[in-house]
Amino acid sequence: MRLVTFQQNGRSPEPGVLLQQSVAGLAGLGFSSMLDLIERWDQARPLIEQRVFAPDAATVPLASVRLLAPIPRPRKFICVGLNYRDHAIESGLEIPKIPTIFNKFATSVIGPGAAVILPRNSERPDYEAEMAFVIGKGGRHITAAHWRDHVFGYTIVNDVSARDIQMATSQWLMGKTFDTFAPLGPAIVTANEVSDPHALDISLRITAAGGATETLQSSNTRELIFKIPELIEFLSSVFTLEPGDIVSTGTPSGVGFARKPPRYLRPGDDMVVSIQSLGELRNPVIAEN
Ligand code: ZN
Repeated sequence: MRLVTFQQNGRSPEPGVLLQQSVAGLAGLGFSSMLDLIERWDQARPLIEQRVFAPDAATVPLASVRLLAPIPRPRKFICVGLNYRDHAIESGLEIPKIPTIFNKFATSVIGPGAAVILPRNSERPDYEAEMAFVIGKGGRHITAAHWRDHVFGYTIVNDVSARDIQMATSQWLMGKTFDTFAPLGPAIVTANEVSDPHALDISLRITAAGGATETLQSSNTRELIFKIPELIEFLSSVFTLEPGDIVSTGTPSGVGFARKPPRYLRPGDDMVVSIQSLGELRNPVIAEN
């Protein structure tokens, strides 16, 4: 199932199921938000299968709604740094032996189609295509072997990064969490539809204002250094993972700052992150006023 959060005619956002060219809202079934849906998934799933996929189910055309980030305000937005070997090498950093973890705040999250705003106080804004997993059942001290019991689904992140601010200190957070720096979506694809999340093609392309399209990143999630089982074990050894927490697994090589010459984001760019089975996340780029 492809789950989205959408808004129609300025009404309150609600969770829904993305069908071919339509969306079935779930507020009428009693689910107020994606977090609510994930928390009560055992109850929601049979209800959705029975009602949403019925021939007479009420749906609205996809073209008539606005998709928001599937989880507009995640409780935790956790990121893994340097998790592709070739990206660690292009960054001039050692291949990590322990996962590098940082986070983005909920205020940085935007949905598909929303503009990434290039901050006035950065001259080196950059892109990062990433596959993210979403926690279903939470827990502490989860062992790697039990990872599948805790993954609700998968989605796409563009880990937009202001390199000058990120690299100014040893803590990356400030360069990673500007408003609009966490495009997320368009949908959460439930885990049952992705047989192997460690075998997905991942790429990022940018169409510049002039019209030329360039593929800047192209890899496969099999190249991840720390895979989902050990990430879940590592993270939950420190804090409780909760339903709806997002873990973005890191980016492959080809980011702007490591290119020769560097290719930073510019107003008028149109970014598309594409991940096999998960879809495409498109976001335009504009300058801050
Ligand atoms: Zn990243």
